[in-house]
Amino acid sequence: MKTILTIDNLNKIYGKRVHAVKNLSFTIEKGNVYGILGPNGSGKSTTLGIVLNVVNKTSGNFEWFGGTIATHDALKKVGAIIERPNFYPYMTAEENLNLVCKIKEIPFSKTAEKLELVGLLDRKNDKFRTFSLGMKQRLAIASALLNDPEILILDEPTNGLDPQGIRQIRDLIKLIASQGTTILLASHLLDEVEKVCSHVVVLQKGVMLYQGSVDSISSNDGFFELKANNMKNLETEVKQLAAVEKIVLEDEKMLVYLKSELEASELNDYLFKKGIILQHLVKRKHSLEEQFLQLTNHQS
Ligand code: ADP
Ligand code: MG
Repeated sequence: MKTILTIDNLNKIYGKRVHAVKNLSFTIEKGNVYGILGPNGSGKSTTLGIVLNVVNKTSGNFEWFGGTIATHDALKKVGAIIERPNFYPYMTAEENLNLVCKIKEIPFSKTAEKLELVGLLDRKNDKFRTFSLGMKQRLAIASALLNDPEILILDEPTNGLDPQGIRQIRDLIKLIASQGTTILLASHLLDEVEKVCSHVVVLQKGVMLYQGSVDSISSNDGFFELKANNMKNLETEVKQLAAVEKIVLEDEKMLVYLKSELEASELNDYLFKKGIILQHLVKRKHSLEEQFLQLTNHQS
């Protein structure tokens, strides 16, 4: 696996008191989609700013592409959108991107390729000022991709967008990732990270609480909600199962927590053979949200 970015014990103190990033370390490997997840003020934008050389670090290190090239040159292989998209309002989408090509010495042919990718090719002759916020954001993504960067960095990519715009940006990020571009995005939205990212770094007040795959934080063995005519018999039989960790009675339902894998169909089959007909059977997993709240509650 190829390492794109290594962050090692990074700290940022603004002025004398605001410790925005505390001893942060994580690594970005090629091909994954990383989310930095945390509430407002947790240090996400500061972290992105540091690795993009627009914010000075206080201490610690970061290294692009294994440290083989200087940061200035490495950043030519990084596409980033960390501010509101800003183009010339009276120029068309195509003209704006061609200008970026000219400045960065990229062939103009890339303009159509990237407009197509973000779904704006048919709007190429429209002026930037006529674009919706979602279209502006997609144009910014096209612009950041003109030079086929190794990694795309996005700060709160769906902020301010309507549900349709949010959906389009999320689908676009997944499409770009599926074509092999590594992605690092910052978001305060749990469902965004859960839907889009393969890996997550959870920050709170500048401190990293968790890093790992989104699957491993959101998938545990889960639990069942069960209901039957005779709850006592149900409990007796469920207790016999090796996969069961604990049983909690809640209102009319029984919550059965697992310590190892058990499929709903297996459980249903087992209970049926014991003469128990279930009126209700649902398998649930703790969502990333529940786990995120557990993580952050312990800290504050
Ligand atoms: P996030 O992007 O997660 O919302 P930020 O990195 O923007 O968090 O901010 C982290 C902390 O650093 C906050 O307390 C914020 O007020 C502070 N901060 C950010 N930028 C500056 C700055 N330029 N000067 C002083 N404090 C700042
Ligand atoms: Mg921010």
